[in-house]
Amino acid sequence: MNTFKNKRSFFLALITFVISVCSLHAQTKPTVYVLATGGTIAGKGASATGSSYHSGEVTVDDLISAVPSLSDIANIKAEQVTNIGSQDMNDQVWLKLSKRVNELLNQNDVNAIVITHGTDTQEETAYFLNLTVKSNKPVILVGSMRPSTAIGADGPRNIYNAVACAADPAAAGKGVMVVMDDRILGADDLTKTNTISVSTFQNPNYGPLGYMYNGKPIFTRTSLKRHTINSEFDIHNLSSLPRVEIVLSYSNATSLFVDAAVEAGAQGIISAGVDNGNLTTALENALNNAVQKGIAVIRSSRIMTGPTTQWDEIDDDKQGFSASWFNNPYRSRVLLMLALTKTKDYKEIQRMFTEY
Ligand code: ASP
Repeated sequence: MNTFKNKRSFFLALITFVISVCSLHAQTKPTVYVLATGGTIAGKGASATGSSYHSGEVTVDDLISAVPSLSDIANIKAEQVTNIGSQDMNDQVWLKLSKRVNELLNQNDVNAIVITHGTDTQEETAYFLNLTVKSNKPVILVGSMRPSTAIGADGPRNIYNAVACAADPAAAGKGVMVVMDDRILGADDLTKTNTISVSTFQNPNYGPLGYMYNGKPIFTRTSLKRHTINSEFDIHNLSSLPRVEIVLSYSNATSLFVDAAVEAGAQGIISAGVDNGNLTTALENALNNAVQKGIAVIRSSRIMTGPTTQWDEIDDDKQGFSASWFNNPYRSRVLLMLALTKTKDYKEIQRMFTEY
């Protein structure tokens, strides 16, 4: 009888011990929110080997349950923000996402955010968040080039690495990042460089922020650009963003698309010029006409690397243009949309393009 009683107390004590160790472990693990927006990472294909598939069909809960080891590194909470191919990403989702990220990161019990996102416009969303999230806590975007049903799907490994990076204290204060193909990339220079490769994302001017190795981040640079808590932009009270269009340069380019943008009511135009932001005479004149009508014009370049510098073959002060420096046309568009919420002055906008 006594032995039975002792055994029972022993097992009770053991169970209590195991439960308290588990709950202590859960308390010490960081809490990472996974916000899902769709993309190929949530895509389903007709076959495991074919290339045809639909983006945004798998829910956030299914994405997470495909990587059971996530619970070893973090307490995972999940939310479905939207479920779209990122070719349809838009200002309304950006505003909703940025506000939700800020709201969550203001909570003491949230340590980091991972956002699953399509790769088509991932660089634009990452940069928008880089300039509008007001927190030092890690924010990491992750996507995949292969749908969840493909042989060698890259999504699960990318999600694991994104959460592992987000959960690591070393990831704080680095600005918004993308973790894919074992690399950590900064939103300050993010560019999709290949239509099908899993290593499509690069930081072509500055190099990657670091690497993921055995589930641990190894950082090799920090961003020298203003971002997150050092950004002057605040979307808190905004329900829409200024309209900014991009106009591409090529031989024989005429004023056609600049005139169309002006006619459509654009408040800003990004010129994706040739070489160092250079323009045909027709385009230069059309953009100067736009400036006369109060439209902000940024000279950027269709070339993937190198800066678009001020005062090269074009006299920016004479024309009232600002140069994009290291921002490509897509990041330039995001920055100009935010800049126009504060100013229309080309010199002030030029300052922003040198600082962000
Ligand atoms: N169209 C997809 C998307 O951006 C492509 C991808 O995720 O790779 O949502």
